[in-house]
Amino acid sequence: MVTREIMNFVAGDSTGIVEFERWNPADPSDLVSVSAWSKPPDVADAVLAAVEAQPSWANTPPAARGTVLMNAADHLSGKHEEVARDLTREEGKTLAEARGEVRRAIDVLRYFGSAGWHVGGDVLPSGFPNTMAYTRREPLGTVGLITPWNFPIAIPAWKLAPALVSGNSVVLKPAELTPVSVQHLLDALTQGGLPAGVLNVVHGAGSVTGTALVGDSRVAAVSFTGSTAVGRQIRDQMEARAGRVQLEMGGKNALVVLDDADPARAASVAAVGGFGATGQACTASSRVICTPGIYDRFVDELAKKARDYSPGNGLHDGVLMGPVVSEEQLATDVGAIEQARTSGGEFAVGGTAPNGLLLDPTVITGLSHGHPVTTDEIFGPVITVLRANDLDEAIQVANDSKYGLAAGICTTSLASAQEFSNRVQAGVVKVNRPTTGLDLNVPFGGVKASSTNTFREQGSVAVDFYTWSKSVYLGWD
Ligand code: NAD
Repeated sequence: MVTREIMNFVAGDSTGIVEFERWNPADPSDLVSVSAWSKPPDVADAVLAAVEAQPSWANTPPAARGTVLMNAADHLSGKHEEVARDLTREEGKTLAEARGEVRRAIDVLRYFGSAGWHVGGDVLPSGFPNTMAYTRREPLGTVGLITPWNFPIAIPAWKLAPALVSGNSVVLKPAELTPVSVQHLLDALTQGGLPAGVLNVVHGAGSVTGTALVGDSRVAAVSFTGSTAVGRQIRDQMEARAGRVQLEMGGKNALVVLDDADPARAASVAAVGGFGATGQACTASSRVICTPGIYDRFVDELAKKARDYSPGNGLHDGVLMGPVVSEEQLATDVGAIEQARTSGGEFAVGGTAPNGLLLDPTVITGLSHGHPVTTDEIFGPVITVLRANDLDEAIQVANDSKYGLAAGICTTSLASAQEFSNRVQAGVVKVNRPTTGLDLNVPFGGVKASSTNTFREQGSVAVDFYTWSKSVYLGWD
């Protein structure tokens, strides 16, 4: 299989020296890429290129900016299968999941491409004579985007598309582990007609490359998706220089299962939400809260379903769950499993030693709410099942969390579903559906330690973060 060399991309040129190796997490003989490893001066060059390119891009008619995104979607569509295979090789998720993610990136480009025709301001009646008032959305200038490895093409796409269509230039710092997926997106945009300098990409360590990007005062705003710990550092850096910041971070997403639910259906919802993408989704159903009448039947059904998720190479047919992304992530997963074991946790399924980076889906019971394994994000195929006496207690347990990203409920009662949706503290609520899986046209984001909870991503509101509103009074005599 081909090893890709992934350079930085600055002012339309490939730059930097490649040195960071990424090996396929399912196949230790497959070197997927060697990518650039940037220093602060590389970041400064990228920011300069973006700053210089921005005025001309902002003066390009919005519909023409949108056409570039539409063209990029066509290019990506033309190599859908190649991109999906590369994504599976570098991230590990199954080919079906990778195909879906690439499809999402294409659709996001089209959605925001069409926004070039209709994102605008309002015309308002003025109280002054012979005067009209209207608002304009102005781009912020140059923005920095920092993205994680778990959705390596969809997340960059859903940040880049609203940023670019609004007339901003961009410096993107992708995750170290997944540079190839971003390169495909960059190639599509370049082939789609994006002028040099409007999008610049710098690869490298978060603590060096990312910190330099956030610290550059020419970068008007930073949109970040990743862990809460890193997000908080970025927030502090941006607040110190009064820059705009958007953070989408971790989660410990509760799925409540009430007595009136069908246990097998609820188990399917939990398995898709907890083991899909190897549990490495910010919205993963990582803790299930069951009422007493369904607890045992639900756990039995979930253990049965979990057997379908026997881990394997995501490129192979029939594999529903790929490997854990890295040794580092595996250590976190195994550490949590061992912590649960030491505390008297029981394993309805899993809890077994990994085989390389292949970790069995794991369902832990017998821990009390408040144990760190039930409250801290693990980010692996590990579900803990907790007990609650009734809906009221289940909502209390769900809300007793530092996080507030996604939450779900399985019930046949409309009243219970509505009460849960009203009271649960989460940015996304799903009823009888997995906590994972979102529409691209619906606003997305969390509350509490999961988000800055100011600007939402996705949907038409996504452009709010990348623009500011100007009010114009146009008078005549
Ligand atoms: P991470 O925080 O380690 O890294 C995310 C990005 O930040 C990477 O590009 C990394 O290089 C960069 N980075 C690291 N340190 C930095 C620093 N000091 N300054 C600037 N940038 C820095 O996260 P990860 O391991 O890549 O991703 C997993 C995490 O992402 C999980 O916590 C998950 O919940 C979260 N996530 C959240 C969402 C969401 O929308 N809420 C979506 C996907 C993933």
